[in-house]
Amino acid sequence: MQRTYSFEFFPPKSPEGADKLRVVRTRLAEVKPAFFSVTFGAGGSTREGTWNTVMEIHAAGLPVAPHISCIGTTREQVAQLIDGYRAAGIRRLVALRGDPPSGAAGGAGDFRYANELVAFIRAEAGDWFHIEVAAYPEMHPQARSPDDDRANFLRKVRAGANSAITQYFYNADAYFRFCREVEAAGCTAPIVPGIMPITNFTQLARFSDNCGAEIPRWIRLKLAGFGDDKVSIRAFGLDVVTDLCERLLAAGAPGLHFYTMNQADAALALWRRLGLPK
Ligand code: FAD
Repeated sequence: MQRTYSFEFFPPKSPEGADKLRVVRTRLAEVKPAFFSVTFGAGGSTREGTWNTVMEIHAAGLPVAPHISCIGTTREQVAQLIDGYRAAGIRRLVALRGDPPSGAAGGAGDFRYANELVAFIRAEAGDWFHIEVAAYPEMHPQARSPDDDRANFLRKVRAGANSAITQYFYNADAYFRFCREVEAAGCTAPIVPGIMPITNFTQLARFSDNCGAEIPRWIRLKLAGFGDDKVSIRAFGLDVVTDLCERLLAAGAPGLHFYTMNQADAALALWRRLGLPK
């Protein structure tokens, strides 16, 4: 099986951030990932930043997949964006609904859910793009039930998604079960686990509360016990996430997608510990 290993970035907010990301990207490119992906702020808040970051990676001759989120956007805006990516020779997209910025109304725009975006991209661009969608082994926080969430995921695949990347998780069993259940419903699309390295407990706890990813109690307690001891947090985090990735790969996961937070060290440390190909 050809596994897919990829790295995710967010568009830098300053020229210094852009310089730093260039260094990070160059270091990560050495291990030859299948692609880099670049996030997109919902409602188009990072439209230009995402576009510029994507084009820079593409110009460096590296495979790149822009994220597109559809909440708060119009059909015309999405059509313009995908036409631009297509004209530039980009072949992969990550299609998402996105979250409205806090305080903003989420209803405006032509799309309600990511399956509508996937269908729109297919109608506009045929098979030009490989389309990735999001999956939630621990359930999306707004879903009515795990069954509903699974049905929603399957709707995205039926609309034309080729593969999926999961929200990060630390419970491998939730991923295995999710994959088994959607396979039983006829889904053959590869579902690549999203991997969040553990380097900063406060930040991780905040993200996890927002996106519904559970930090198991024993991991939370251990991390909290390290206090400000960053070295111990990183060492423990590397052990825990290496074990998780080893379990996932041993059970046949079709690759790994690393949420890098625009840092190279943690993702590369995992890469080495896992003995992934260069
Ligand atoms: P959807 O698949 O549309 O699902 C959203 C919710 O609606 C779910 O609860 C689902 O169960 C429910 N639902 C779906 N269809 C229906 C229906 N027909 N009726 C009723 N309920 C329905 N966010 C960004 O803003 N920018 C990014 O770049 C970004 N990148 C991401 C990358 C990955 C790999 C992941 C996992 C997430 C990313 N996100 C990003 C976050 C994502 O946008 C949020 O999790 C968002 O809340 C849901 O997006 P989605 O595409 O999964 O939405």
